[in-house]
Amino acid sequence: RHRLLAWCRPGFEAECAQELSALDTRFGGGGYARAKPGEGFVEFVALDSDLAGRIAEAAGAERPVFARQLMHGIGRIEELPRKDRLSVLLPLIAGDERRWCDAWVESADSDAGRELSALCRALNGALIAGLKRQHAIDRDAHWRLHVALLSPTQALVCATDIHASAPWPGGIPRLRFPRGAPSRSTLKLEEALLVLLDEREREAWLQPGMRGVDLGAAPGGWTWQLVRRSIHVTAIDNGPMDAALMESGLVEHLRADGFRYQPPKPVDWLVCDMVEQPRRVAARMAEWLRQGWCRQAIFNLKLPMKKRYAEVQLCLDLLRDRVDGTLDLRARQLYHDREEITVFARRA
Ligand code: SAM
Repeated sequence: RHRLLAWCRPGFEAECAQELSALDTRFGGGGYARAKPGEGFVEFVALDSDLAGRIAEAAGAERPVFARQLMHGIGRIEELPRKDRLSVLLPLIAGDERRWCDAWVESADSDAGRELSALCRALNGALIAGLKRQHAIDRDAHWRLHVALLSPTQALVCATDIHASAPWPGGIPRLRFPRGAPSRSTLKLEEALLVLLDEREREAWLQPGMRGVDLGAAPGGWTWQLVRRSIHVTAIDNGPMDAALMESGLVEHLRADGFRYQPPKPVDWLVCDMVEQPRRVAARMAEWLRQGWCRQAIFNLKLPMKKRYAEVQLCLDLLRDRVDGTLDLRARQLYHDREEITVFARRA
């Protein structure tokens, strides 16, 4: 069996499974997903290892929206002895010739998964010690070992390439709420910048003195993220903005309709967190990009409907269709996203 394991937000297993199935179909298909609602992970069984590799490779390049991390299965263990789990894990891992730069014991972001987190921590230390004894740890290697604990006695042993995977256990960047930020949703934009851009892009594309527009800005959590990078922001919202944020002198607040506002001259950034129909938001974002009103955009698409996967495809297709030229489009359900996803779009 050639398995892939994806961590996802509990409740979005079906969407994550649909994504992996769509990739599998593109390469000939034959695989199937195993997912239970609320478990926070999807197991995908591919026809052969070649297919599993191609799915993972395509997923690495195209960034699945609903998978926080996608891992290659090495082996599945159904009966871990509770007294000595390593006695089964270490021999299985030794059967793989790779050496590992690190090893993570993880569990799902679900209630059941959280109950396993103390066990994960305890096992992680012992696992690394055991791997060192086997000379399987090499800090220069580019493979990372994952032991995904699915229950106290079940584990899926997996691997990722550190250059094509999320650098956080569970695919979750743990962010502290920044002091002085006006709202919790500030973490959404912070995570988006961390997950959707790489370090070089963040440096090049978020420069002091740049200009941005924030549609649906109040009370200002997203604006705050731009302002902390010394970017000037025009904040569009009929609601009030945080007073301390306004004192930065970098924010101009306009009480206007975010769907009608047009900037007097092009800006570097458009960000948008308006609670509206996703296609309406996507269409407006496409217009901004098409007209060249902004260089790049980050926006949320809320997904309160039943057919969430189809809605996401529709919105992403709409953007690709309406914005001519090559559009760099990256979408992800972030850890801080609930029933929504976050999209980065930039005209190449
Ligand atoms: N991103 C903000 C933050 O970090 O503090 C929170 C934004 S809140 C989720 C959505 C905001 O969009 C609300 O303040 C609402 O007033 C605004 N909004 C909704 N529809 C709008 C529209 N058509 N034009 C302007 N603002 C709108």
